[in-house]
Amino acid sequence: MIQGIARGSATSTPNFLLRLDIDTTRDADSTRPILDLLDDTQIKATFMVATGPDDSARKILGATPRIIRGRYHKRYGLTTLKNTLKPEQHLENRLEDKDILQAGHEIALHGHWHTKWIEEAPRWTLPQAQEHTTRAFTSFTSRFGLQPKGFSTPGFTTTPQITQALQKHPLLYTSNTRNPRPHHPTLHGTPTTHLEMPATLQTLEERLLQGATPNKAPATAMREAAETLKKEGYLCYYTHPSFDAHLHRDFLPRLINTIQQQEPRTPTMETAARERRTHDEDTPDL
Ligand SMILES: [Zn+2]
Repeated sequence: MIQGIARGSATSTPNFLLRLDIDTTRDADSTRPILDLLDDTQIKATFMVATGPDDSARKILGATPRIIRGRYHKRYGLTTLKNTLKPEQHLENRLEDKDILQAGHEIALHGHWHTKWIEEAPRWTLPQAQEHTTRAFTSFTSRFGLQPKGFSTPGFTTTPQITQALQKHPLLYTSNTRNPRPHHPTLHGTPTTHLEMPATLQTLEERLLQGATPNKAPATAMREAAETLKKEGYLCYYTHPSFDAHLHRDFLPRLINTIQQQEPRTPTMETAARERRTHDEDTPDL
């Protein structure tokens, strides 16, 4: 059965989860202002870090359609794009994990080699999916010294092969899809052991890249976020620190302010998943 995370639990307080994806070196370098904002607003967030190389700038410059590329140029600037061209540097090593963990936030896993994952994962066989997911988990644990409790697939790329490959890892939750509420996905007709904690809505960044007008898009995103939380009791807003720290600095504070008028709980995704699974009485030994 699919339920909202707060429905039927001891509390009817809605859950607002903030998922911050670290896709690029620029995301990894942009966490400081975000951490300050989280501190001010008493929010515990989940940083989803992609392990492996960051060749996003090369991909953006070389492979995206011209119209999208033009928007990236306008918004990020060529200098910024070139600065991220350091394929030898692995993203997980760039992230200042101590500040994040000491403040009570979560670091979870966002695959391995973000651009390559998005391009190739839809065609992976099961052994290939197992190889890539294992590489992601190995990179994560050797860098941070802990097992990730959550996993999100880059680009929301889900296939039965990826779902099955993830089953052998001791995860508390996945965040592989965009959906209104948490649920257990099915694999070949059987519910998986992982609780799926989906991202709920499009980011403001996505809306703008798809051509939404900068005057209207922020208000639309905030209204949809507030309505969703009210309706579902669950909102997982995902975004990228490089966007919120540099491009639309006022948006995330305004969104948080709007959302907090509903006085939601704001735990990490791990905490929310643990509570939900405890409620479902299906918590494995993690
Ligand atoms: Zn990503």
